[in-house]
Amino acid sequence: MAASPIYPTREFDFARAWLDVDLGALAHNAAVLRARAGVPLLPMVKANAYGVGAVAVARALGTPFDDQDASPDAPWGLGIATLDEAELLREAGCLGRLVCLQPLLPTELERAFVLGVTPSLHRAADIAAWSALGTPTEHGGAPYHLSIDTGMARAGIRWDQVASLREALRHRPPQGVFTHLHSADEAPDSRHVQDRRFAEALEVLHDVLPPHVLRHTDNSGGIVSRTTGSPGQLARPGIALYAGLFAQELGLRQVVHLRARIIDLRPVQEGESVSYGATWYAPGPRQIATIACGYADGYRRHLSNAGVVLINGIRCPVVGRVTMDMIMVDVSAVACTVGTVATLLGHDGQDCLPVEAVAGLAGLSPYELLVGLTLRVPAIYHASVTSSFPSLA
Ligand SMILES: *Cc1c(COP(=O)(O)O)cnc(C)c1O
Repeated sequence: MAASPIYPTREFDFARAWLDVDLGALAHNAAVLRARAGVPLLPMVKANAYGVGAVAVARALGTPFDDQDASPDAPWGLGIATLDEAELLREAGCLGRLVCLQPLLPTELERAFVLGVTPSLHRAADIAAWSALGTPTEHGGAPYHLSIDTGMARAGIRWDQVASLREALRHRPPQGVFTHLHSADEAPDSRHVQDRRFAEALEVLHDVLPPHVLRHTDNSGGIVSRTTGSPGQLARPGIALYAGLFAQELGLRQVVHLRARIIDLRPVQEGESVSYGATWYAPGPRQIATIACGYADGYRRHLSNAGVVLINGIRCPVVGRVTMDMIMVDVSAVACTVGTVATLLGHDGQDCLPVEAVAGLAGLSPYELLVGLTLRVPAIYHASVTSSFPSLA
């Protein structure tokens, strides 16, 4: 299965640059997170599943589709951020619950209803408008989750103002109630403050919330920060599913493997420069390979003179600036030819360039590195990824 987000009609031959996506690794990561959280998952597939491919991820997690029954370990639902994301999943036949965690505009509620999306709401007028839209769709569109801000200051009603919603909630109770943690992985004390505020808000609302309301707080950092499982009934991992963070701590497997071929090779002499701005000079005679992947493919410019790639299992440094369509690497230490495949992220042989490590080399967040990847690189989905590459036709 192959798909490109921006050239959807083009048949790709994967000759230049592509992503090998390991759906077996994704399923493994989901199982690890499910076990650690101890509650069913609401995995986040926003932003095209962090660049990995929302439809493929939803299918691989066992979500029901019109041609696929839910697997026994299917997640409770999927988390999204926009209605366009929901439409893409529905058009692909996705029948699972879709919860939109980002606030919707009042003018978007009707479209959310038609798409069978469960919105997060926190304004009395929106709760009333949502309930006026009528009976649930086949996807269960009528439920909503109440969004409470406990310190992120981004979305939801402030924890200390929830009393103002008591009437609206009594009249039209939510299916779920949630908050979002801002630094669970970095600062456990911040989580304690947010946990306490969330508990206070729930206490104020205890007689107007249904007894079985689904509580959820934990993103990946939240799940990892707890030793006794996630509180409530659901957890919402994103980045850890895609092994962008916590891979080592939790034994997660790399999902994304970015490959690109060598398309040119040349020797350079001592003192000669490579790439724009002449930021790198050869310290001696060197063999330089040009690889068909640049910042337009999501190989970020921050990796100029900082990145490394794997070629036949050997680490080769990126030399000079990353350009829009190509990078240059020093391949003096490895045998290679035009057509040889380089691995820019993920496994090659025994070695691995984890997303988190490459993001670290670039001084980037692993979120940005992953989400930035889809621009021009087609994804190819595998049950598991090996290091044998398709040869050039
Ligand atoms: C993105 C997001 C998540 C997932 O966060 P990660 O840090 O990627 O695990 C969870 N909940 C909400 C509300 C989000 O916006």
